[in-house]
Amino acid sequence: MQNQTSKDERTASNSSLDSFLDDSTEPASLSEEERKEFESWVQKILEEPSKISEMISNALQKGMYSEWEEESASHKFKLGSYYPSMIEHCLRQQAYSYLYPLPPTPEQLNIFGEGRAIHELVALALRRSGLITIEGREVVVDLEFGEGVKLHGRIDDLLLIRMTASDELAKLSPENVIEKEDKTARSNRRSRKNNTEFSLFVPLEIKSTTSLPDEPKQAHYYQLSTYLHARNYPIGVLLYWAKRGGGVRAFAIKKDEAMYYVLRERVLELHEAIKTGELPQKEAAKNRDFRECELCPYLERCNPFLIESIPQGSKIAVFDLDTTLLDPLPRRRAILQELGLPSTIRPSDIHEDELREKFWEMYENPKYVSFDSLIDQGKENVYSHLQRGHAVVGISSSRRYRAMDATLARLANLGVPLNHLILKEEGNYDGDTRFKAKWASRLATNYEIVEYFDRDAAAYSLVARTIEQAKQRRGRADKKPESN
Ligand code: SF4
Repeated sequence: MQNQTSKDERTASNSSLDSFLDDSTEPASLSEEERKEFESWVQKILEEPSKISEMISNALQKGMYSEWEEESASHKFKLGSYYPSMIEHCLRQQAYSYLYPLPPTPEQLNIFGEGRAIHELVALALRRSGLITIEGREVVVDLEFGEGVKLHGRIDDLLLIRMTASDELAKLSPENVIEKEDKTARSNRRSRKNNTEFSLFVPLEIKSTTSLPDEPKQAHYYQLSTYLHARNYPIGVLLYWAKRGGGVRAFAIKKDEAMYYVLRERVLELHEAIKTGELPQKEAAKNRDFRECELCPYLERCNPFLIESIPQGSKIAVFDLDTTLLDPLPRRRAILQELGLPSTIRPSDIHEDELREKFWEMYENPKYVSFDSLIDQGKENVYSHLQRGHAVVGISSSRRYRAMDATLARLANLGVPLNHLILKEEGNYDGDTRFKAKWASRLATNYEIVEYFDRDAAAYSLVARTIEQAKQRRGRADKKPESN
């Protein structure tokens, strides 16, 4: 009876691929019947080997998700308590992430998992080095700003570094230097001039990246600064671990008093907005950090490409500024003349670095922008669209944002009223065509682009295609039946 039961149990437990894999039974020890059953399972598996790889992938995803869930359970949003790791991010994005938390994407899960694994590895290696002690892991810290508002986070590792008094590092901040010895041992040590051994707590924040940065990333700097201020540590370390190509790079960050006020201002602005139910400013869009917007998980909800002065759904006409409205040639000639260069030369043909830099500096100077002349046909087109009730948007990839006021002034001077002007933000290295196509796609999410003007055939063709694709996408979205 006993044998029959255990056999039944074993048969039942062997009824799935999972339990078969858990059972390390030697085929030779099975009864004839069991052996046949066993062979038939093996046969089934061999017929569909993908089941095993699928099972492993699913198990991995499930395990990582459960790890993430456990981690995020301790991160439930409480009004007044904000994360140091996010405080440098766009304020609007932070507010969304507290109010409308999203489940992680598979990519985020991987980043989370990799981060944890690398963290473990670094901690293990540091311990094994024998040079540094790890005093605390995941040390909870609060940087309070009064009235129940704080930054609340966890230091990856709290290192204890021992140095001799002769070491320059040991002189950083005496009040933060912790002496671990008893009084007698200490006095004995001190009697050995210049050989006193001190210990210093140093918070270590570990970041895994695709490539090593040349300087600390601002968001990480803000995070570590929070820890330094919360516990009054004089110095901390940001350690970057390159996932590709290998290598690590560590940056020592000193506590900067001014950072307390920077952090406080951001936290209070965020807190006030969430408390009063008014979302904070769309900070990234306001600072024209559109790359952050493109990567933002709340892009759709936030809609940063809606132009405040043009209502959503309006019909708009878009003009490439430098080929259809303003002719920059007189400006170029005036600058070349001023620099003593032939008027036919192209800026890219100026070989002397200093002279070329001077040229571009003058190119955005209001004095020279006022040399831009009007393309009459462009002005007529602008008025034609305005008369039909369309909004008019100008775009230029060759003028940077700092030329905005001078360009608007010149347009006003020439009697060209634009509803909005898009210029290239600092740090955007997109080529001319890509820049304009990207913006056409962004504008098309909120507006109907009825006409696009550009005398550059390649740019025109790509932008026109982008507009057409956006129209089709909208058409498909409008036709989709609403889900209940
Ligand atoms: S889309 Fe841009 S402005 Fe909006 S929340 Fe995201 S990062 Fe901020």
